[in-house]
Amino acid sequence: MTTEELRESLLSAPKNGYTTLTAEQRTEMQDYCKRYAAFMDACKTEREATIWAVREAEKQGFKAIVPGMKLQPGDKVYKDNRGKSIILAVIGSESLNCGANICAAHVDSPRMDLKPNPLYEDSEIAYFKTHYYGGIKKYQWTAIPLAIHGVVYRADGSIVTVSIGEEDKDPIFYVSDLLPHLAADQMKKTLAEGIVGEQLNVILGSEPLEGEGADLVKLHIMKLMNEKYGMIEKDFLSAELTVVPAGKCREVGFDRSLLAAYGHDDRVCAYAELEALFELENPARTAVCILADKEEIGSVGISGMQSQVFDTFMQDLCDATGARLNRCFENSFCLSADVSNAFDPNFAETCDKRNNSQINYGVAICKYTGSRGKGGASDASAEAMGHIRKTFGEAGVTWQIATLGKVDQGGGGTVAAYMANRNIVTVDAGVPVLAMHAPLEVVSKLDCYMTKQACKAVYLADY
Ligand code: MN
Ligand code: MN
Repeated sequence: MTTEELRESLLSAPKNGYTTLTAEQRTEMQDYCKRYAAFMDACKTEREATIWAVREAEKQGFKAIVPGMKLQPGDKVYKDNRGKSIILAVIGSESLNCGANICAAHVDSPRMDLKPNPLYEDSEIAYFKTHYYGGIKKYQWTAIPLAIHGVVYRADGSIVTVSIGEEDKDPIFYVSDLLPHLAADQMKKTLAEGIVGEQLNVILGSEPLEGEGADLVKLHIMKLMNEKYGMIEKDFLSAELTVVPAGKCREVGFDRSLLAAYGHDDRVCAYAELEALFELENPARTAVCILADKEEIGSVGISGMQSQVFDTFMQDLCDATGARLNRCFENSFCLSADVSNAFDPNFAETCDKRNNSQINYGVAICKYTGSRGKGGASDASAEAMGHIRKTFGEAGVTWQIATLGKVDQGGGGTVAAYMANRNIVTVDAGVPVLAMHAPLEVVSKLDCYMTKQACKAVYLADY
């Protein structure tokens, strides 16, 4: 054999996905990314993503699961978990005792949540106090256009939905930063301290009501919110109002090959697994699609992946088809579909380039996440990695390897460990992201498209 032949047969040589993308795939990719961008424009919170998924699922023939119902192969059901997360399934022709093929993504993203008593006035400017949600670099959230999304549960039990800052006719909201002229002290601080949590106060207005007494600007804002949403100050306690970057998903670059949006992590994988699920008709194995909440703060709480809502849903599926839950879990496979850090040449020193995902190299498979000696990671087995590699290979999915930065540089986690704790074989894979957790994150269209193909391959695989 020549050296060239040896190199070809023995060494792995990752290639940019564009080198193998067919003309037909390119057209599909562009169409897919238009649909994805529309989803992103409509969904900035887990609640909005859940509403969107319920509406689209019902159009596709999915029905809300009812305990005690009988299910047949080909049936499509979903569980709306209190408007904050959703699990969907297409029943397969094989028994659930043989396991399910699961894709699990999350639809919450880092942001600024309002405190329970948020409204105040200082120096005749009205503000909301916030508490950030998830891992953000606080300085990135100042001096950018912001929108407010969420719900308010009023004293009479009625719920009002809030979404303001996205339409051209809407006002936006704003967190100020210090002018450079006076920032001599601030500029000497670390990036972690330059803007602190208690400075993430959102500007709401400045015009005082006519009259006497204190806080006339605050009173004006409360009056406007009362007229628009029928709420009083006490209603903030029973509200979930959240401040997110305003604006739409946009193409990036002269070649338009990238997409910038708020919250690609992890709605980019959520959309991929949802659209792939909608294309299934009569799969052999039952396909389950999870859009979880609270991943950014540890998958805790009733809508997070550690909640028993998933087990209850799967128990309902097993009861409806005469299977056993523990047998089902034991034979299931889960793709923990979450984003990875795309290699960024601006910060090359933070990554091991040989083991990092890269823009346009396809869906990124991550054997382990965690930090400091894989702490907190699920760490997929050789067999699990073999299964995913074979599945993607046979389906023609362009894939690559991912790890989360250099050893001891930092780390993170996904829902993978909570799926694996249930005795479900689980592997992480997803879309590489530039500037993850920034107000605007960037992904490549090719990687988005390949991740959808990857989810579809997982649903259809033998296991
Ligand atoms: Mn994520
Ligand atoms: Mn994240």
